[in-house]
Formats: sequence, C-alpha cells, structure tokens
Amino acid sequence: MTENTIEHAQPLTVLAEDETIFRDSVRAFADARVRPLVREMDEHAKIPPTLLPRLFDLGVMGIEVPEAYGGAGATFFHSVLAVEALSRVDPSIGVLVDVQNTLVINALLRWGTEAQKSAFLPKLASGTVGAYALSEAGSGSDAFAMASRAESRGDWFVLNGRKLWITNANEASLFIVFANVNPEAGYRGITAFLVERGFKGFAVGKKEDKLGIRASSTCELLFEDCRVARSNIVGDLGKGYKVAIETLNEGRIGIGAQMIGIAQAAIDHAVRYTRERKQFGKAIADFQGVQFELARAATDIEAARLLVYNAARLRDVGQPFLTEAAMCKLYASEAAERVTSLAVNLFGGYGYVKDYPVEKLYRDAKIGQIYEGTTNLQLQTIAKNLLS
Ligand SMILES: Cc1cc2nc3c(=O)[nH]c(=O)nc-3n(C[C@H](O)[C@H](O)[C@H](O)COP(=O)(O)OP(=O)(O)OC[C@H]3O[C@@H](n4cnc5c(N)ncnc54)[C@H](O)[C@@H]3O)c2cc1C
Repeated sequence: MTENTIEHAQPLTVLAEDETIFRDSVRAFADARVRPLVREMDEHAKIPPTLLPRLFDLGVMGIEVPEAYGGAGATFFHSVLAVEALSRVDPSIGVLVDVQNTLVINALLRWGTEAQKSAFLPKLASGTVGAYALSEAGSGSDAFAMASRAESRGDWFVLNGRKLWITNANEASLFIVFANVNPEAGYRGITAFLVERGFKGFAVGKKEDKLGIRASSTCELLFEDCRVARSNIVGDLGKGYKVAIETLNEGRIGIGAQMIGIAQAAIDHAVRYTRERKQFGKAIADFQGVQFELARAATDIEAARLLVYNAARLRDVGQPFLTEAAMCKLYASEAAERVTSLAVNLFGGYGYVKDYPVEKLYRDAKIGQIYEGTTNLQLQTIAKNLLS
C-alpha cells in the first residue's frame, strides 16, 4: 500500500487480522471485567479505581502512541474499534478510552513538542489518564468565546478561569486546557496548555450528577493564578483554536463509535428478550410487527457503523474526512436514540425498570447528541460543506 492510496478496496466492515484480534480481545475484556460492574458503576456514578490499571494493561489507553514511547503503535481505526467494543458493555468506559485516545493523545501526537511527547506519551500509555478542557459555563457550541485567560509572565503563563463538563476530570492527572492569551485578538488568542494535577492554583471542582454515562466523571475545573510553563504550550501560541478544531473533528468519530456500541447492545438485548418473552401464546419475536421494528433497527445500526468506519478509515489514510466525521456522529447518535428507545418499548414494563439493562442504554445514548458538537453543530458543518 502506498501512502494515501488503497491497494485493494476492502469492504468497510471486513477487518484486517490484527484489527479482529484487537477487537475480540477488547470485547472479551469488556464482557469479563466490565460487565459485572455496570450496574454498580451506574448507581454509584463512579468507575472503580481497580479497573483503570486493567485498561492500561489491555493496551487501550495508548492505542496510537508509537511503540518507541511505550504505546501500541496502532491506528485511529483501532481506537474506534476499542470504543465501540467497550461501549457495547459500558459507554462510560467507552468515553474514558475515547477522550484518552482521540482527544488527548491525538493532540499531543499531532501538536506536541518532542520534549512533551517524551515526557507525557509514555505516562499516558502506562498509567496516566488525560482530560480535554475546552467548554465553559458561557461557551459551549461557541467554544472560542471562552472567558479563561492566560497572562504571559516571561517563561510562565498565569491561568485564571473555570472549565465546565470535563470528562475524566476525577481520574485524570494530565489536562489539555484552552485559554485565551490575548482576548483582543479574539479566537487567535486561544492557546492550549498542558496542566498537571497538583499544579498550584488548579483544582478539580464539582462533579455533575447526570442522566446517563453516570460512571464517567464530568467536573468543573478551577484555575486561580495557576502558573504554567511556556514549554507546556501545545502547538503554537495563539493557535489553540486549530488544536481544538482539528482534534474535535477526529474525536467525534470516536463518539460515533460509542453510539454504535450502545445501539448494538440495545438490539442484542432486544433480540434475546423478544425470543424469550411470550404473549398470546408465542414469542413476541414471532409477531411480524416486532420483526419489522428489529429489522429497521438493525439497518440503522449497519448504516451508522458504515459511516463511522468510513470516517475513521479516511482519517487513517490521510483523506479529507471532516464532513464524513460530522455525518457519522450526527447519524450514529440519532440511531442510538432510536434503537435504545425501541429496545425499551420491546421490553414493555421491564424496559422501564433498572433490573433490566435497556433503560440505562436509553439514558446513556442521549449524550451523543450533545457533546463534541451538538446535532445542530454537526448539521452546520455538513451544510457548510454542501453549500460552499
Ligand atoms: C457529559 C458531558 C461531557 C462533556 N465532556 C466535555 C469534555 O471532556 N471537554 C469539553 O471541553 N467539553 C465537554 N462537554 C461539553 C459539551 O461539549 C457541550 O455541552 C456542548 O458542546 C454544548 O455546549 P452547551 O452545553 O454550552 O450548549 P449550547 O451551546 O448552549 O447549546 C444549546 C442548544 O443550542 C443549540 N445551538 C447553539 N448554537 C447554535 C447555532 N449556531 N445554530 C443552531 N443551534 C445552536 C445547540 O445545538 C443546543 O441544542 C461535555 C458535556 C457533557 C454534558
């Protein structure tokens, strides 16, 4: 295979041998190690600390980190496979792995200095959880209107402000934080900084009590005269907007993967249940009305998976993927909502209670239409490309 070309056009869902082995190992791990904890994690809104080292041992916390830095040296597509396989069992673990790989490590690989890569990539691949802090109370979709400031003081910057909704904040030791160094320059002042837990003036604040992905920590970050070395700038001064745009363009493919994992789990449960549940003297799966609903859901999932896999594979071969990434996230998140809603319906009353797994999947699916760009923002990206 030469760069940017594909020797033999492969069906999107046919995996290479290493991809199959990797996906199967993550699936087996998720079934054996995560599944028994799902209910407890949702109820206590917490990932058990003992699970984290196991994720590092499995090799899913540094998927694209080159082997020279202690990582798996694999592709973005492998990250997508891992997020999908984990989300099929627990989407909170799916997003933990997603943020680590598709946002934090991705940004460092692309924009980090050699010194930053040597210092942080081995840690991220072996025991350090990362988080990515862009959003604030007043700036979500309009992220570049952020109020956080970084004031230059020679070799240092002093950060002040608050970030909101930061995934992995409770578990993370390394944070990529966006702040404006020159508000007069507008978005051209935005700069990305590496902030480590323990930096003076930095604290992780209140944890949100959420509808879904409850085990995933979502917290406020507080910066009060927090000194960060100039050498901790990721990318160039004033070019943080580029770091943010480009990592999020890729990150949202990971959210698409999380959504197909959720939708697949929902239909798996629905197929099993409708075969067992009897009404009017036969399995409810024998009713054509139910069969057609399942068939539509399976088609929805297949379409979403094709969009997600295609966007990821385009990214890996260096082809443009911006619109495809927006489409995959848009479609997969809406498909996940439709399929999980159907699963609740097909379980009847049992779909509405916590003793059965589908009400949780329904709650977990909702976030897909909100984070890493809301549905409207994905539509905006697609329309912009269409009309340009
Ligand atoms: C569980 C969770 C985890 C998160 N994790 C992270 C994280 O790790 N890091 C991080 O930085 N952020 C994170 N976020 C923040 C997330 O990315 C934002 O919530 C999201 O971008 C939306 O911003 P907002 O909440 O301010 O909503 P708003 O931007 O206020 O949007 C509200 C509504 O207005 C619509 N809208 C806004 N602008 C337009 C427009 N121009 N045209 C049409 N409609 C529009 C939106 O589509 C939406 O429906 C997380 C959020 C949640 C809930």
